[in-house]
Amino acid sequence: MSEAAARGHAGGVLTWGPLIHNPQVVGRLEEVGIGVADDLRDLVGEAFVVSAYGVERAVLETARAHGMTVVDATCPVVTRAHSLAYRLAEEGYQVIAVGDHGHPEMVTLKEALGDRVTVVHDRAEAAAVRLRGKTGVISQTTQSVQNFREIVGDLALRTRELKVLNTLCPAITVRQEEAEVMVAEVGALVVVGGHHSSNTTRLAEIGRSRSLPTYHIEVPHELDPARFAGIERVGVMSGASTPDWIIAEVVERLRRIGLDMKQAAARPVP
Ligand code: SF4
Repeated sequence: MSEAAARGHAGGVLTWGPLIHNPQVVGRLEEVGIGVADDLRDLVGEAFVVSAYGVERAVLETARAHGMTVVDATCPVVTRAHSLAYRLAEEGYQVIAVGDHGHPEMVTLKEALGDRVTVVHDRAEAAAVRLRGKTGVISQTTQSVQNFREIVGDLALRTRELKVLNTLCPAITVRQEEAEVMVAEVGALVVVGGHHSSNTTRLAEIGRSRSLPTYHIEVPHELDPARFAGIERVGVMSGASTPDWIIAEVVERLRRIGLDMKQAAARPVP
């Protein structure tokens, strides 16, 4: 959608912050005329693309006030998660959202619901929330399945009525399940994807939680062959926004190092 917008708007296309959490892809997008703004004063151009995780109201209103055409590329999975949270709030539930405080998806949710939603990052934060009655819980689409499961389990024991809506992204859930299986079968794990990509970071966390040597890299040259001494088989996983060309380059580099590899099956994002 961004590339189509760039083709149709010679006067420039902007996104608010990186379109996806992968600097290499963002670099390629810049080459075809899709720039990144992070200051409201910089929102000047012909078109504005709302990223997959949504954007704050102030940004959207500024883009419109500056006469920009708005292209809404919010992911339907994120829209569904937000809609379900709004419905819980309308039905009188105290809404708990399991997510990362600064993540755009949580920021826009908090902006829309204000005090009616509490974002909790981990079990300790969830335990500190004073529950008032009916409790509804959703998660950031890219949350750790394990974290969501544990917090839901804790909340269930603290409230008389708990409504749980599974808003995890299916593509992310499948990747995490694959990672759980893979870590038992390899001597090291290489996770390819943006260092700021939340779903990629979760995959690396799964490896580290099993004390498996785990390397979260963005590009092939971050791989140090010396770190694989004595390791026969390495698992390769990638984040949802990691492009195929980077994965192929990483696989090629590992092959040259002489490692046997186990790769997660490529799955389309729904
Ligand atoms: S990872 Fe899932 S929630 Fe995120 S943009 Fe892709 S499909 Fe949407």
